[in-house]
Amino acid sequence: TISMVAIAKDGAMAAATSTNGLTHKVPGRVGDGPIVGSGSYADNEVGGCGATGDGDIMMRFLPCYQALESMRRGMSPAEAAEDAVRRMVSKYPKVSSGLVVVDNKGNHAGAASGWTGTFTYSFRGGDMGETKVVEVPNIA
Ligand code: ASP
Repeated sequence: TISMVAIAKDGAMAAATSTNGLTHKVPGRVGDGPIVGSGSYADNEVGGCGATGDGDIMMRFLPCYQALESMRRGMSPAEAAEDAVRRMVSKYPKVSSGLVVVDNKGNHAGAASGWTGTFTYSFRGGDMGETKVVEVPNIA
């Protein structure tokens, strides 16, 4: 999966997600990636989000929409990402999920569950001279 969240100079936000889907997927399967609110979501007034993981479970929760609405109500990116992942984990304790949440000022955080390896995301912007990588520990 490749998710991107971008903030333009004028403050406009965009998010998009691309994925190869799942190994041995049923022909015609549409995963979570292209579903607005699940694989990605953005709102200039709040921020943006990208997600990956077990799409057949995640698409039932619209985790990116959830995270942005949580930020709209006052949560930080870290709180919103963790809350969205915990909502999925509470129903599906083994769900593999990873979220990156960015507010419209560029503050960002991730939350993840169920990864065998480590969920990571990278970021770059402003006058940063290099891309930085963030490792996100599983919360379940
Ligand atoms: N979220 C993707 C899907 O379920 C899988 C992935 O790319 O990790 O289609």
